[in-house]
Order: sequence, then structure tokens, then C-alpha cells
Amino acid sequence: MADYDYDLFVIGAGSGGVRGARMAASTGARVGIAEEYRYGGTCVIRGCVPKKLMVYASHFGEDFEDAAGYGWSLPGEASFDWKTLIANKDREIARLEGIYRKLLTNAGVTMHDGRARLIDNHTVEVAGDRFTAKTILIATGGAPSLPSEPGAEYGITSNEIFHLEEQPKHIVIAGGGYIAVEFAGIMKGLGSEVTLIYRGDKVLRGFDETLRDGLMEELANKGVRVITEQIISRTERSEGRLSLTLSKGGTLVADQVLYAIGRRPNTNGIGLEDAGVELTDSGAIKVDAYSRTTQDNIYALGDVTDRVNLTPVAIAEAMAFVDTVYRGKPRAMDHKLVPMAVFSQPPIGSVGLPEAEARKTHEAVEIYRSSFRPMKHTLSGRQEKAIMKLIVDKASRKILGAHMLGADAPEIIQGIAIALKMGATKEDFDATVGIHPTAAEEFVTMREPVSD
Ligand code: FAD
Repeated sequence: MADYDYDLFVIGAGSGGVRGARMAASTGARVGIAEEYRYGGTCVIRGCVPKKLMVYASHFGEDFEDAAGYGWSLPGEASFDWKTLIANKDREIARLEGIYRKLLTNAGVTMHDGRARLIDNHTVEVAGDRFTAKTILIATGGAPSLPSEPGAEYGITSNEIFHLEEQPKHIVIAGGGYIAVEFAGIMKGLGSEVTLIYRGDKVLRGFDETLRDGLMEELANKGVRVITEQIISRTERSEGRLSLTLSKGGTLVADQVLYAIGRRPNTNGIGLEDAGVELTDSGAIKVDAYSRTTQDNIYALGDVTDRVNLTPVAIAEAMAFVDTVYRGKPRAMDHKLVPMAVFSQPPIGSVGLPEAEARKTHEAVEIYRSSFRPMKHTLSGRQEKAIMKLIVDKASRKILGAHMLGADAPEIIQGIAIALKMGATKEDFDATVGIHPTAAEEFVTMREPVSD
């Protein structure tokens, strides 16, 4: 057997890479990892975590307003300081990065700071040093991109929004995916004027239509200006501001443009061709159900494989990889019924099939839906609604999809996802006693289908 420097070399210390490296090391493997930016990866450094902190920050404005209906008054006018939020958020992210480094050190993983590239299928180069490894795991994640329209380079992506020196007075957000709608809510809640511009007719393609319609309404209610079926066709800078020309001829003036128009897998310049690793037509690393690439000893997981691009999925793929390669228990990752959240305002939680998809794949379905004003807003006077929806397969009675738009939806759907994963039927939901008074109890008290 060839003598390698490492049993496993991991490229990328994000959600998937760190978990794979730590768990492989815990089985006794000698593991090295390379990271070109900061340990923790997209989720911790410039994704889920800082975003959720900013979502929390953005809620206080409404909370102060809502408090009035409950008898509270503030001593003075509430004001928000962007610099304080960014500095406190940065401190927390630095703390978390330290924890990630410590976890790797404690697991006995050797860290190599720098950009890694494959020289061949057993050799990696980092900052001029070469290492050999029996197995290589690529977990380089993905990156946001700017469009090609003239002046798009004046815009920023989600990478930069976390570090803006000043809060933009007017921000235009281009895109209709989860990152776009989340930042629309964050920036609006923090007091910016927000315009969302999207090439489709409705935000959140792929989600259930009822939630998409509901969120379109809530965005408008909260004062986000939504422009659909258009893109920014030209951007010019004048007197410190940005002048945008839209595809149907209209114009906008803004302080920042955030492009959240999609992410591409980080596959460029890492020597994949030298190692015999092939890509899919859409540019992701091609893998089988065990996350093995077209090169036998090289695996890839997480966003670079563009399957389901979420942190818990990258982590679960890493756990399956470790079971397969280091624990003698080959296991394919199960990508079915992955629950999802959108931290919009109000947020979304969703698991299973949207109605349209269920109708395509099942002969007969029943739809249960409930829409109401949450109890909290009876006294606050806020007009925000909650919407819940269950999609049931008529033949098997199984719940095919559970969807919610409303306060705490991600927290509620996490539990419902367990039920769906276990194959729960509508009768199982009906037999479950609700918790009163909650919004969640609605999921077990919807008795009459609204349609079939
Ligand atoms: P990453 O976490 O992206 O890690 C890849 C790492 O590899 C990076 O640290 C990168 O610097 C490094 N790297 C790349 N190339 C090299 C190289 N050649 N050499 C060395 N290092 C390299 N997911 C959720 O589940 N919930 C959320 O709420 C959520 N919110 C998000 C919000 C935003 C704004 C964004 C952008 C993403 C969000 N995601 C969320 C998605 C989540 O961040 C990703 O799915 C997850 O980070 C993927 O993990 P990964 O290990 O594949 O890659």
C-alpha cells in the first residue's frame, strides 16, 4: 500500500468539510484540511448565522410597535445603529470561527490555511506545499455571482452585505429566491427603503403557491416595493448613488444593489480535470448516492455538488460519507423530505411536496388549509396573517406536504418533518391532541378539506 501523508485530505472547512474531517479523525484516520478564507464556511461566516442574527435585529422595530397594544410605551423614540449591529455580529462570528478551529484541533485534524488545488487524484497543493492522501473530500461550497448586464459590478452580493460600513437608505434587491426575500425583510425591518426586483412573476419558485402568494402579500403590506417580470438592465453611478434602468424602461435610484440571483458551485481552478473529477452539465461535481465522484478515491459533498444546498444536508452527507468510508457501514444520504425554512417576515417552514407537485405525482389528493390572524396580533393590531396547509394522498392517507407561512413556522415545521419522515397519515395528525393556545395546534385541527 502506498504511504500517504494523510488518510483523508478535506478541501474546504465549511459545514460539510469540518464535519467530515472531525468525524473521520474520530475513527482514527489521519486527517488534513485546507481552508482559504475562514473556518466555519459560508453558513457560519456569511450565511445562515449572521443572517439569522440580522433577522432578529430587524424584528425589534415591529416588536416595539406591537408592544403599544399591550400597554407598553417606550421612554423615547427607538433608534437603530447599523455599526453596532455589524460590530456585535462580527464579534460573535469570530467567536464561532474560534470554536470551529478548536473542534478541529481537538479532533486531531491538521489545518492548512490557504487555497488548495488538486495536482492528481492523490496529491493536493496548499500554499506551495504538497500533501498526499489516500482519500480526498471536496467540500468547497458555492459562491454568489453578479449578472453580466452593464454596471452590475457596482452591485454587491450576500458576501458583502454583512460588512457594509453604512446602512443604505434605499436598497434594491435583485432576485426572488430565499436569500433575496430574507434580506428584503431584514433591510426593511432595519429601516431601509427596499425594492425587490425579480424576473419571475412571484418570489420563491419551487415553494407551494399558497405560501408564495401569501409572502407576496406580506412583502407589500410591510412596504417592500416588489417589481416582477423585470431585471436591472443597466447601472450607472452618479454622485455617490446608483441609477438603474429596468428592462421595461423604468428607472430607480438606490444607494446599494444586492444581487441574490443564485449561487454556483466552487469548482474553478481547483485541479478537478487533473484529478479526473467530472462535472455535471450545470457545473457541479458529479457524485453518486455515496458522494463518490467519477474518481474512485475522491468524494464531494455539500453545495459543490448542488443537490440540496443547505447546511444540515451538507452535514448529513458528511456523516454518510464517514459511515461509508471509515465505519464500514456504506450508507447513501437520503435527500427525501428535507424540511426547509425561509427566514422572511413572516417566515416560512415547508416539508414535502407543494400542492402542484403532489397533483402531478399522485392520482388524488386532499388539500387542508387554514389562514388566520395570530392571537398576538389581536391586541397589537398588526394585520399579519398565518397560513397553514396540508396535502394528503387520498389513497394512502399519508401527508405529502406540510407548509406554513407565519411566526415561528420554521420551529413548527421541524417537528412536523419528523412525522412526515415516519410516514404519518392525516388520521395520525387528527389523533394528535393540540397544544392550546398556539398556532401550531391548527396543524392537528384542520378537519374539512378545502379542495381535492
Ligand atoms: P461552505 O460552507 O460554503 O464551505 C466551503 C468552504 O470551502 C468555504 O469556507 C470556502 O472558503 C472553502 N474553499 C472553497 N474553495 C477552496 C479551496 N480551493 N481551498 C480551500 N478552501 C476552499 N443554509 C441553511 O441550512 N439555512 C440557512 O438559513 C441558510 N442561509 C444562508 C444564507 C446565505 C446568505 C447563504 C449564502 C447561504 C445560506 N445557507 C443556509 C446555505 C449554507 O450556507 C450552505 O448550504 C452550506 O454552507 C454548505 O456547506 P458546504 O460545506 O457545502 O460549503
